[in-house]
Amino acid sequence: MVEETKSKTTKQCPHCKSEIPIDARKCPQCQSDLRSWFRRHPILTVLGAFIMFIIVSSIIGGGTKKETKPQINQQTKQEVTQPSQEKAPEQPQATWQKVKSWQGTGIKKTEPFTITGKQWRIIWSIKDTSGINASILQIFVYKVGVQAPMEIVANVQGTANDTSYIYESGEFYLNINSANGNWAITVEELK
Ligand SMILES: [Zn+2]
Repeated sequence: MVEETKSKTTKQCPHCKSEIPIDARKCPQCQSDLRSWFRRHPILTVLGAFIMFIIVSSIIGGGTKKETKPQINQQTKQEVTQPSQEKAPEQPQATWQKVKSWQGTGIKKTEPFTITGKQWRIIWSIKDTSGINASILQIFVYKVGVQAPMEIVANVQGTANDTSYIYESGEFYLNINSANGNWAITVEELK
């Protein structure tokens, strides 16, 4: 028991082999520095810790770099897609441009008009003037030189409006058949 408590409270100096207090930093006999190697070499300890930190952080950093690589790719993809999105408004240099417009009552066969693009539209409306919703509007699209109407874009009774799209270039005219209303028709081309 006594030896045990002695062995817990004292230690042997590694230099002079004398029994000294277990928590002694310096041997009271030979004055040897008994602190740990790290305590005795603070500069080397700090330097070593710093080197370890660099090594560890480079390993972790290497790991995160691998993880961030896809993000970089995504960023570059976004950079790739963003210019194309920016280019998209350049393509809508193709905007709707007015070709012709008419308004009136009754029946009308329009003058021919030329569509150079592949897409055009007829924006039409009729407002009933009979008061009993008896107005009618029929709009036929003809291609110049062709007997039969190419398309019927409107065939309505009463106040109405709509837009009809046509996907053909060439020279066209409209045959408008109407009664009991004021109509307005605009032809626009996408170019
Ligand atoms: Zn000693």
